[in-house]
Amino acid sequence: MGVPLLDLKAHHAPLHQAIMAALEQTFQSQAFILGPEVGRLEERVAAYCQAKYGIGVSSGTDALLVALMALGIGPGDEVITTPYSFFATAGAVVRLGAMPVLVDIDPTTYNLDPAKIGAVLTAKTKAIIPVHLYGQCADMAPIMDLAKRHHLSVVEDAAQAIGSEYRDGQRASSIGTIGCLSFFPSKNLGCLGDGGMAVTNDPDLAERMKVLRTHGSKPKYYHKLIGGNFRLDTIQAAVLNVKLNYLDGWTKQRQENAIRYEALFKQSGLVEAGKVRLPVPVYQNSSAKHYHIYNQFVLRVERREALMTHLKQQGIGAEIYYPVPFHLQECFRYLGYREGGFPESERAAKETVAIPIYPELTADQQTEVVEAIAAFYQ
Ligand SMILES: *Cc1c(COP(=O)(O)O)cnc(C)c1O
Repeated sequence: MGVPLLDLKAHHAPLHQAIMAALEQTFQSQAFILGPEVGRLEERVAAYCQAKYGIGVSSGTDALLVALMALGIGPGDEVITTPYSFFATAGAVVRLGAMPVLVDIDPTTYNLDPAKIGAVLTAKTKAIIPVHLYGQCADMAPIMDLAKRHHLSVVEDAAQAIGSEYRDGQRASSIGTIGCLSFFPSKNLGCLGDGGMAVTNDPDLAERMKVLRTHGSKPKYYHKLIGGNFRLDTIQAAVLNVKLNYLDGWTKQRQENAIRYEALFKQSGLVEAGKVRLPVPVYQNSSAKHYHIYNQFVLRVERREALMTHLKQQGIGAEIYYPVPFHLQECFRYLGYREGGFPESERAAKETVAIPIYPELTADQQTEVVEAIAAFYQ
């Protein structure tokens, strides 16, 4: 039958009327730029993330950019981050003329390994960008400790992690100085195009980011800062205000799907045989509530390329996030890193594959996915 990696039609079908009504209302109001839906969404998303302020922006990428601009990151500054993430994480640093300084990942969580940060700190280090990859928090406590001791800012790339929680139940994006969210359609809370938000507990940074998103102007046409056009469209905010009501339910479905995969993969014998390694949800509370929100369900597998070909033939959606770590990207050659520089990131890039985990995925579809993978290793 085949199973897609993501099924946005199934995702949006039950919301068709509510979303159309929100679009209609925005159209009637004609308040397309920073209309009231934007402010309402900012308050609701900030509260959802346990933060005080939210600044709606044009994308997750621009959330990172605005966050770093508000912190004054620029030429001569160094920003520590992971080599294993979506391009925007490092791209935002470089666009401001600063230098990304890479630190390898923890092979279990695929997130920045805090134990390796100390060795790359210099007098030029200004910030750390941990990424909560696939929907699980990076190990924030040692990162925050280090940041405090060395007076560094922490910008959380929470593009894949809205609602994900760390050890003590604190939500991703409100742990560091600024948190960055993406509403790209494939994220757990997606809009009908591009959108994002920066959240923070710091009123001064919130104000700076608000000003920066409209070319640094306040009042209108008087520019204290050089910003850009980084606004979130009212139309997208209106859609997100509808969809936010369902986010907890979708997260729960993703987590239930993850638990079902765990059972199916264990039954298949693939785990025991060492063919497939499952994601490890590290942070759970005492009632075993998952804190991982599974934006992606990523396996570590044997013979990945051949498996990908097999899955494609079977019509099973699968994707590699991400095939080339930052230090091996052509555009970052000037940073002077070499192959072998970040062995865990390189290994992850070669061994991992994401399989369907979206909320509407059925138990039968999951069985089909696991059977297709089992057939490959037989
Ligand atoms: C999606 C994503 C981004 C960028 O978000 P956009 O809204 O697509 O610009 C940044 N970082 C990570 C880790 C992402 O997954």
